[in-house]
Amino acid sequence: MSASWTLALHGGAGTIAREAMSDTARAAHLEALHAALEAGAAVLRDGGSAEEAVVAAVVALEDCPLFNAGRGSALSAAGTVEMDAALMLSNGRAGAVTGVRRLRNPVLAARAVMRAGGAVMLAGEAADAFGEAEGLATAPPAYFETPQRRAQLLAARRAGAMALDHDGGFGTVGAVARDRAGRLAAATSTGGMTNKPPGRVGDSPILGAGTWADAVVAVSCTGTGEAFLRVAAAHEVSARMRHAGQPLEVAAGQVIRREVPAAGGRGGLVAVDARGNAALPFGTPGMYRGVARAGAAPWAAIHA
Ligand code: ASP
Repeated sequence: MSASWTLALHGGAGTIAREAMSDTARAAHLEALHAALEAGAAVLRDGGSAEEAVVAAVVALEDCPLFNAGRGSALSAAGTVEMDAALMLSNGRAGAVTGVRRLRNPVLAARAVMRAGGAVMLAGEAADAFGEAEGLATAPPAYFETPQRRAQLLAARRAGAMALDHDGGFGTVGAVARDRAGRLAAATSTGGMTNKPPGRVGDSPILGAGTWADAVVAVSCTGTGEAFLRVAAAHEVSARMRHAGQPLEVAAGQVIRREVPAAGGRGGLVAVDARGNAALPFGTPGMYRGVARAGAAPWAAIHA
């Protein structure tokens, strides 16, 4: 099926037990997904670019404390917020930041890196300073941290493990889009995994691992980042389509159901191809996700 524009987004894949979620919580989560879908869809409906649409959708999810990106980011083992984000377009332009602590919207910093030209990725304090110099909004640590994230860190410390933030909470966010002009874009933003070692970088900001866009497909991943890194998950979707001739649904499904588990991980992704088809496979009980396309009602869901 093709459409003149398509937007798909995720708010993380994890073990979100259906019975553990109250009706009120469920409604709040779906409402947040619909608000982010509308932020991106409004851009595409008006003829705006896939780039603008994915950034608008991701900013909405970063600003929502329910998701593990921007406000409400997961906490590292040191109790700090260290956020990663990436943006990539089908024309090959890309920008990424990793380990930022002050920028309210890391995806805007990724876009600023892309627009500045030169470097594709900036890390740590230098990335924060770059964003500030670009006029991006900053916030103190208290803005990013929520009581839920602190509780998750304490639980992960007790378990002595690094945890997928959305095991019981909310996850990494991302969006992919095809605009009316046929351009594709992908963006991903995350606080990473709870109790991660300080300095740890997951798949989300790494082009080809958690985020990828080319002329064929745009992909944003979520899940145990180390496994997505090992199989270059996002790029693998494109490789399967380009070199093996697999349709989007097959390529995306095999990466999530075979390759990521074979590398010891789990999670999901959202992808949109050049014809406007969308795929949202996940290998977990749920993935916060949604799709909006020209001429159809927006759709969002949490469980299978
Ligand atoms: N993939 C992210 C990471 O490893 C985590 C997530 O998707 O929630 O940093």
